[in-house]
Amino acid sequence: MEGSNDNKETVYGNFINTIIEEDLADTSKVVTRFPPEPNGYLHLGHAKSICLNFGLAEQYGGKCNLRFDDTNPAKEDTEFVNSIQNDIKWLGFDWEDRLFFASSYFDKMYEYAVQLIKKGLAFVCDMTAEEVRLSRGTLTEPGKESPYRNRSIEENLSLFERMKNGEFADGEKTLRAKIDMASPNINMRDPVIYRIAHMTHHATGDKWCIYPMYDYAHPVEDAIEGITHSICTMEFEDHRPLYDWVVNNIDFEVKPRQVEFAKLNLEDTIMGKRYLRNLVETNQVDGWDDPRLITLSGIRRRGYTPESIRNFCASVGVSKANSVVSLAQLDFFVREDLQPKTPVVMAVLDPVKLVITNYPEGQTEMLEIENHAKDESFGKRMVPFSRELYIEREDFMEEPPKKFFRLAPGKEVRLKGAYFVTCTDVVKDENGNITEIHCTYDPATKSGLDFTARKVKGTIHWVNCATAVNAQVNLYENLVVADEASDNGYSLNPDSLKIVTAYIEPSIRTVKPMDRFQFMRNGYFIADSKHCTEDNLVFNRIVSLKSSFKPSK
Ligand code: ATP
Ligand code: MG
Repeated sequence: MEGSNDNKETVYGNFINTIIEEDLADTSKVVTRFPPEPNGYLHLGHAKSICLNFGLAEQYGGKCNLRFDDTNPAKEDTEFVNSIQNDIKWLGFDWEDRLFFASSYFDKMYEYAVQLIKKGLAFVCDMTAEEVRLSRGTLTEPGKESPYRNRSIEENLSLFERMKNGEFADGEKTLRAKIDMASPNINMRDPVIYRIAHMTHHATGDKWCIYPMYDYAHPVEDAIEGITHSICTMEFEDHRPLYDWVVNNIDFEVKPRQVEFAKLNLEDTIMGKRYLRNLVETNQVDGWDDPRLITLSGIRRRGYTPESIRNFCASVGVSKANSVVSLAQLDFFVREDLQPKTPVVMAVLDPVKLVITNYPEGQTEMLEIENHAKDESFGKRMVPFSRELYIEREDFMEEPPKKFFRLAPGKEVRLKGAYFVTCTDVVKDENGNITEIHCTYDPATKSGLDFTARKVKGTIHWVNCATAVNAQVNLYENLVVADEASDNGYSLNPDSLKIVTAYIEPSIRTVKPMDRFQFMRNGYFIADSKHCTEDNLVFNRIVSLKSSFKPSK
């Protein structure tokens, strides 16, 4: 498996480590969970949560459960359940035999609700949702108690059972926790913990017509599974007193503790599942795995490695303060991971023809070129060279500025692994566009010979015209751009995908989908998993070579 984790010493937790070490005499007893709702594909924000939850368990030799939070009776989405499992495995984490579904606890959740009623801590309320909302009060004013708050335990038990038996319509009754309508925390003002919804659940079918609310269900799920630390994002901080209330008022063996951390926010990126889902469903992108998306399947198809994502998540750290992480930081870890393990080939993305006028017509020679600049174990390959080559259009300038060390009239450069060439002439079409660059080569400068008579500053890549392989290359920019006129502050970037036809040296013919290469000087590329075939090569640019991010050590 690609994501096997050989980097076990990576620490994801920080202040959470401290909490765990204070709470548990034996930290190997730590149990965490990752609790996705199966209503979309996972994104990079989820990766942070996965790395944190599984990472902590791994670090202490504890356990991390995968629990699908499917308490909402929504339509069955095995596609999401499967994709989520794939993505977690790809990231390199393993829940072993601990795959759970919250819906499988519905019976116990009901029993515990009965327990609360029997303790006088919950009541059946006949107020409508609107009435409950209006009586809740504000941050500065207390709420008003429900007129049904003092029903007897017997009446509550009977009504709750009748709710379960389907005797009431949706919204007609709720079960509410009896806490404190004057609490400064609005979440504690007799929150609804069960609602009536006559809906078919994908796992439990029509067995239930009452469903638990998240704030009640989640602590119960955690307690049932023996979770010691329930790690969630900051928006649940105000819900923690209710979490604790549920945990403390039901007779659980293990009382889980909720710990919040700040969500991952990425610069110029919209992370929410709802937004992503809309892009997919309205066909504005090529599926959930479009390489421009920050879904984990998009990132995988884009060519990012699981190691780079884990290193990135570790570098971001865990804190309670909201911050926005730059895309350059993400790219840095992708590049850093790819550099030592990716072979280099030559590809020209924006070609112009280079004709070596003193090279014999009809001759082709094979040049031996190393597959990696630093690591000899990558070996060498033979690359054909002849009189007509493609070079990158931007590697030539007719009127170059001072520090331009590439090709220009009268200037000499090195062709990677080949010879020095000197530009003698340019050929243009009737519109003044350059169609050919003419040059001469010096046989004495052949790569590998001991030539020291003169030096050149620039080395450029090239591809032999006669043997070049055509490929579609997808170049990406950010998917969204700032747009003040739009609701969320962003609109789709019309230039987020640029498709070019590249010429690549013939060694590329044996490529398989998901193979990665550095195209010399152009960045890291991956053969597209969806569209790349033997007859129709398609590459995605993973990341360019230039970095503006410096990690703090
Ligand atoms: P979204 O807002 O994208 O729909 P969600 O929080 O509703 O995400 P869930 O499936 O409920 O999605 O999330 C599973 C877990 O992932 C939760 O514990 C949640 O807190 C965590 N999570 C979601 N987004 C982020 C993020 N940006 N950074 C860190 N953790 C996140
Ligand atoms: Mg959610």
